[in-house]
Amino acid sequence: MNIVDIILDKRYGRELSDDQIGFFVKGVTDGSIPDYQISSLLMAIVLNGMTDREMTTLTLDMASSGDMNDLSFLGETAVDKHSTGGVGDKITPIIMPLCATFGVKSVKLSGRGLGFTGGTVDKFASIKDFNINVPSEDFPSYVNKSGMVISGQTPSLAPADKKLYALRDVTGTVDSVPLIASSIMSKKLAGGADAIVLDVTCGSGAFMKTESDARRLAEAMIKIGTLSGRKTVAVITDMDQPLGRTCGNVIEMQEVFESLSGTPADDVIEVASTIGAYMVKLSGKVNFASDEELIEECRERIKDGRVLTEYIKLIRSQGGQVDGNGRIIYEDLPEVVGEVKAESCGYVTSLKADDIGHASVKLGAGRMKVDDVIDYGAGIRFLSKKGDYVSVGDTLAILYKGSKSTPDRQVIDEVSKMIRDAYKLSESKPQINPGIIDVLGV
Ligand code: URA
Repeated sequence: MNIVDIILDKRYGRELSDDQIGFFVKGVTDGSIPDYQISSLLMAIVLNGMTDREMTTLTLDMASSGDMNDLSFLGETAVDKHSTGGVGDKITPIIMPLCATFGVKSVKLSGRGLGFTGGTVDKFASIKDFNINVPSEDFPSYVNKSGMVISGQTPSLAPADKKLYALRDVTGTVDSVPLIASSIMSKKLAGGADAIVLDVTCGSGAFMKTESDARRLAEAMIKIGTLSGRKTVAVITDMDQPLGRTCGNVIEMQEVFESLSGTPADDVIEVASTIGAYMVKLSGKVNFASDEELIEECRERIKDGRVLTEYIKLIRSQGGQVDGNGRIIYEDLPEVVGEVKAESCGYVTSLKADDIGHASVKLGAGRMKVDDVIDYGAGIRFLSKKGDYVSVGDTLAILYKGSKSTPDRQVIDEVSKMIRDAYKLSESKPQINPGIIDVLGV
């Protein structure tokens, strides 16, 4: 087999065989195909697409290019969840303990943040002494303790995807439904999932800016899931403005605590109860008359403290510090370094999530390069979001830095301007997007 013929086949719109895809993924993994030929095939895929079978084969081959987690020790359907990315996304720390309240176990592999979207691993790492690098052989003992374990993804998980993703990033080939869908699903399959709930975000802070693109991605991932024998549900969620009231690391984990102590933001509880409900449903462990009833039950458990109890168990089981009064100790504490005030009055009609994500990274809460160091205490709290009416001088958002870092006035001024520009005000009340746009695959 010859890589040039494979590139030519895809260039002329012909369907690739399983053997051709297998040859390509093997060559990517062992380094025998040079980057320029890999990139050329990636561009041909971007331009000519892939059939459902091609996408599924690519996914399965990338999944098996490295270690495959065996979660059979759970003794039940292994349900995983994935978000296609967002700003202020604090759903995972809520849904794992939510599942635990139903006796549904979860093993979650998560990524570090890069670029304007935050990473779940960094959020958990902002809890003092929380061990986010749990080797897979230790998963059973952690699950025995709390019913849950969360760990950072290791480089040996789907290495072909890692290589392809790095090349896509520098060759203008990220933006392709078959490539995004197979990339995400390969990591879920390698992680050992039997069933998957996908949070497909849509809007300025997401990969998919429009609802129709989000639907195309969701449908592609459901096809791959179904063809590879995994029950898959996709929940399309709004990510046009940040999720919840905060963006950062410690500050988001503090919001998780607030949410589980009875005062969740509307969008957070809506998304968390829906994603959690479908995870519980796919586990097959409980029976509810309808999905709506199960979602309602999830809302109750988030608000009435039952999920908080499981959340504290998860933190303790992974070494995270919780004091005698049940208060979580963080690596650092956010300190106020600035406020952004409204310069005119009106309804907030837009709070662009991508602009907020960039502002948050500039403040130190995220990284632009893999080796950037995060300021765990840095972040933003939104006092006003879409639909709120503000008067001149009202505080729109508060900026924080960690107590261990020295605030740089120029950076804070620049970030304040970025946040002010992200807010758009108007005399007329905007229509508010629902947190949940649709659920597919049920
Ligand atoms: N997330 C992934 O893991 N892969 C992509 O291609 C895009 C988003």
